[in-house]
Amino acid sequence: MNAKPVIITEHLFYYHRCSRRSFLDYRQGVVPQPERSRHREQVTGRWPGVAPAYQPPDWESGFQATLELMRQGVPAIHQGVLQVVTPAAVLVGRPDVLIREPGSSRWGDWHYRPLEIRLGQRPKPEYQAVAAFHSWLLAQIQAVWPRWGELALPGPRFLRVNLEQALPPMHQMLAACLDTLKQPDAPEVFISRSRCQLCPWLDYCSTVAKQKHHLSLVPGVTMKRYEELQTLGLNRIDDLAQADPLRIYNATSLGINTSNKLVRQAQAIAQHQALSVAPITRLPQANIGYFFDIEADPYLDCVYLHGVLLVTPQEQKFYSLVAEQVHQEGRIWQELLTLLERHPHAPIYHFCPFEPQTIQRLGQRYHTEPQRIQAIRQRCVDLHARLVRSVVLPVENYTLKAIARWLGFGWQHPRADGAQCTQWYNQWLHTGDRSYLQALQQYNQDDCFATYHLYRWLVDFMSTQTPPAVHRSTG
Ligand code: SF4
Repeated sequence: MNAKPVIITEHLFYYHRCSRRSFLDYRQGVVPQPERSRHREQVTGRWPGVAPAYQPPDWESGFQATLELMRQGVPAIHQGVLQVVTPAAVLVGRPDVLIREPGSSRWGDWHYRPLEIRLGQRPKPEYQAVAAFHSWLLAQIQAVWPRWGELALPGPRFLRVNLEQALPPMHQMLAACLDTLKQPDAPEVFISRSRCQLCPWLDYCSTVAKQKHHLSLVPGVTMKRYEELQTLGLNRIDDLAQADPLRIYNATSLGINTSNKLVRQAQAIAQHQALSVAPITRLPQANIGYFFDIEADPYLDCVYLHGVLLVTPQEQKFYSLVAEQVHQEGRIWQELLTLLERHPHAPIYHFCPFEPQTIQRLGQRYHTEPQRIQAIRQRCVDLHARLVRSVVLPVENYTLKAIARWLGFGWQHPRADGAQCTQWYNQWLHTGDRSYLQALQQYNQDDCFATYHLYRWLVDFMSTQTPPAVHRSTG
C-alpha cells in the first residue's frame, strides 16, 4: 500500500527538537495530547467556545466537525482539526484555539485565526513554525489568510507571529520532516539531558544508547563536540576513554581542559569508578550542618516548601516547612530564618545555586534585613559546584538523582522529580487530599538526605585522593 504519510502538528513541533522523536511517534502512531496546565485554562477561558466531537486519530472526522463549526461561525473552536491533502502528504493541524474575526472568507463575513498556547517563556522557533503551519492550513481551507498567527505564553503574554518571516523556515522544516519520516530507519540516537528528559522515548533511547556505548552518554559531549570527536575516529565511550587529550586538543576546537575532562569522564564510565580531575579543595566541615532543599512553583510564584535536615553530633532531625496555602509563603520564610539562625555558624549545604538565589529573593520580598540574608548566604556551600570542579563519576548526568543513585541512595518515589512535586502541590491545592502533600514532603525529605549522603561521600573521597597528572595549557 502506498498511502500518503499523515503529518500532524506534533511531528513538525518535535522535529525541531529531535528528528528521532518525530520518527518514533510517527512509526508507533503516538499522538501526544496537549498538556493540562493552569496557563492553558486561563487562556482558553478568555475565548469560550466549542470543540469538535471526534476521537484522535480519526482526523477526517475531526476535520469535518471543525469545518461545520467554521461554517456556522462559532466565536471560538477549541482543539479543532485542519486538514489539507497535498501531492506528498496529508497535513493535519491541531491549533489550540481558532478565533473568529471579521473579514470575508468562503464562509461569509468572518474567518478564523489560530492561537497557540505554549508553556515556554520565549517565542521559540518551533512555536512560530506551528503558528505558521496552522495559518497556512487555514489559508487553504477558508480561502483567505488569517491576519496573524498568535502565541499565548505564560503571564499570559500574547505575541503575534510575523508570517512573512515564519513561513519559509516552516516549509523547509516540513519538507525535512517529511523526508525523515519516509526513511526506513530512525535517525541516530543522541541523548541530551535538556531535550530528552521529558521525552516519553527516553527509556528506549537510553537502552539503545547503552547498547551502542554511545558517546552522548558521556556528560559534556554535545552534538557539536560529538561531530568533532567522530572526525578523529572516536565513536564509542571506550574510544574516548583511551584517547590522548592532547590529540583532541590539537585536532578540534575543544580546549585542553575540556579535552582532559571529557577523556577522564569517559574513563570514569568505562572503569565504573569516580576519578579526580582537578586539585581538590577541602569542604567546609563542622560538627553541626544543615542540608537544605527548596520546592517552588514558578507559575504560582510561590516557594511552598523548605526541607531542612539538621545534623548535630547527637541526632539527625528533619524539618518540613510547608505552605499549605500559597499565602503562607511568608510564614514559612520566617520559620526558616529562625531555624537557620539557631546555629549561626553551621554550614548550609545544598545542591546547585537555586537555594541561595531563592533566599536572596525571599529576603527582598519579605523585607528581611540585608545583613541577615548576607550572613546566611555566606554559610551556603554548593555541593554540586564542589563536585563537578574536582571529580568525575560514572553517571550520565550530574543531577542529584543520578549522583546519589550511583552512591546507592534510593528515593521513596523513584520516578518523581521537581515537576512532579509541583504537580502534587497543585493537586493538593485543588483537592485538599493530604496524600499529595505527604508525597511531596517525602520527596523533598529524600532530596535533603541525598544531599547529606553526597556530602559524606565527598568528604571521604576527597580525603583519600591525590590530584591526577593533567595536561596543562601553556597559553
Ligand atoms: S529520548 Fe532524546 S533522542 Fe530519544 S527520541 Fe526523545 S528526544 Fe530524541
